Amino acid sequence: VSHSSGTSAIVSSTPLLVDAVIIGTGQAAVPLAVALAGQGESVVVFEGGQLGGSCVNVGCTPTKTLRKSARVAHMARRAHEYGIHVGEIRVDFAAAMERTAAVVDASRGGLTRWLGGASGVALVREWGRLDGRLGERFVVRGSTAVVHASRVYVNTGTRPFLPSVPGLDDVQVFTNESILQLRELPEHLVILGGSYIGLEFGQIFRRLGSRVSIIEAAQNVAAREDEDIISRVADLMTAEGVALHTHSTVVDITRPDSASSATACTVTVQHRATGVQQTLDASHVLVATGRSPNTNDLGMNTVGVTLDDRGFIPVNGGLETSVRGVFALGDVNRRGAFTHTAFQDFEIVLANHRGGARSADGRITTYAMYTDPPLGRVGLSEREARELAKQGRRFLVATHEMRFVSRAKEEGETTGVIRVLVDAETDRFVGASLLGIGADEIVQIIGALIAADAPYQVLRDALPVHPTVTEFFPTILGKLKPFE
Ligand SMILES: Cc1cc2nc3c(=O)[nH]c(=O)nc-3n(C[C@H](O)[C@H](O)[C@H](O)COP(=O)(O)OP(=O)(O)OC[C@H]3O[C@@H](n4cnc5c(N)ncnc54)[C@H](O)[C@@H]3O)c2cc1C
Repeated sequence: VSHSSGTSAIVSSTPLLVDAVIIGTGQAAVPLAVALAGQGESVVVFEGGQLGGSCVNVGCTPTKTLRKSARVAHMARRAHEYGIHVGEIRVDFAAAMERTAAVVDASRGGLTRWLGGASGVALVREWGRLDGRLGERFVVRGSTAVVHASRVYVNTGTRPFLPSVPGLDDVQVFTNESILQLRELPEHLVILGGSYIGLEFGQIFRRLGSRVSIIEAAQNVAAREDEDIISRVADLMTAEGVALHTHSTVVDITRPDSASSATACTVTVQHRATGVQQTLDASHVLVATGRSPNTNDLGMNTVGVTLDDRGFIPVNGGLETSVRGVFALGDVNRRGAFTHTAFQDFEIVLANHRGGARSADGRITTYAMYTDPPLGRVGLSEREARELAKQGRRFLVATHEMRFVSRAKEEGETTGVIRVLVDAETDRFVGASLLGIGADEIVQIIGALIAADAPYQVLRDALPVHPTVTEFFPTILGKLKPFE
């Protein structure tokens, strides 16, 4: 395999025999390719889109970068509360988007250099597809390249799911991918979907100056979370001027003859309980109603792998499919939907390839929602724990308002709540939900204690630093009590 630095290295119809093929450069692919090549294996990586997958190009990196511009604008507007006067606040949307693009480009550039610097890896800039076996090897085809590999790793991720809404196909709507190309601020952004991606984009665009309406079919936004978290998130969004249409569905989307631009349309929303309809004049519509796995044209069936009911690839704890030698990593295996789970998939697969016995079984759900303030989550929510309590499990719970946390008061950012859940029999943490400043970082303390299998008393008796949000853990843990 020849060394490649970002361009197609293989343009040949003669099959190439290699140790491993990786299809898709999601968050597991590049480190895996480099690690396998580092131990002397020959590796071919297929990527039909942009190197680095969703996270780097159209997911985490751009949203968290743009979120910072939005936060700066927000804090500039609040500056007077801190005794600072900054004059007129003007958002240069195009500049914020260019800054975002530059961070994305630098990030992708780093990955490209990393992959290109590994000898033994060839990058094929084509969509890859399994095409059965030849003897012991799997056949993977691109549009020109044909590779025969002993092992195949699928890391093809997900794409936006577009719901079937009358008129949706006839108008120009945006996804998390295309919205990053905008350089003119949407006047009125209507977002379909009030889960994590919809809320993050909604708050960002509101803070950058758009009017924002979010339509969510469920009773609440971020409906998976505990009630009090949900209501605080909803309150903070509405306080910033985001219009929430919950328990509502889109009846149709039309493009009026008088539309002022190619992206302008009228969205008719209906409240599910009352049937009351409203029309929203959108300058732009963003669809954030979930994700679909990129498995429809992968040829998994040609090697005997059957997809699940939603098109994901079933795997065991070692992330291997029912066919020995074929692995699925990242979002497509339905064992996580995050960059950190995809990266851990890489670590598990590599460790096992080197003779280890790591497993994704028993993985604790851990994530953050990057509203501002963020929500940090690990393990069970209170609602989930209460369900388990009905089957006889016993838990202890403690909740502490952020408005009583000195650091939050000092920062003037008191929105939020901290909740920890402990197994009453083992004294081990089973979950935490933190909405508040620094929550995405702080929640990981609980995650680390769960991983260490340490009793909650370790944190209760530890010496915290003052003044931090974390210093309240001993106080909070002193308030643990059973569910009422
Ligand atoms: C707006 C948004 C914000 C997000 N924010 C966060 C966040 O803050 N934190 C977090 O942890 N996660 C976040 N995520 C989720 C995160 O992006 C994904 O979980 C992460 O990228 C892992 O994906 P993956 O490794 O499965 O593959 P992906 O990153 O989706 O990459 C898959 C790659 O495979 C390629 N591909 C697909 N099919 C083929 C084929 N047949 N041949 C060749 N190449 C193929 C694609 O072009 C793509 O480059 C966010 C997602 C979105 C959409």
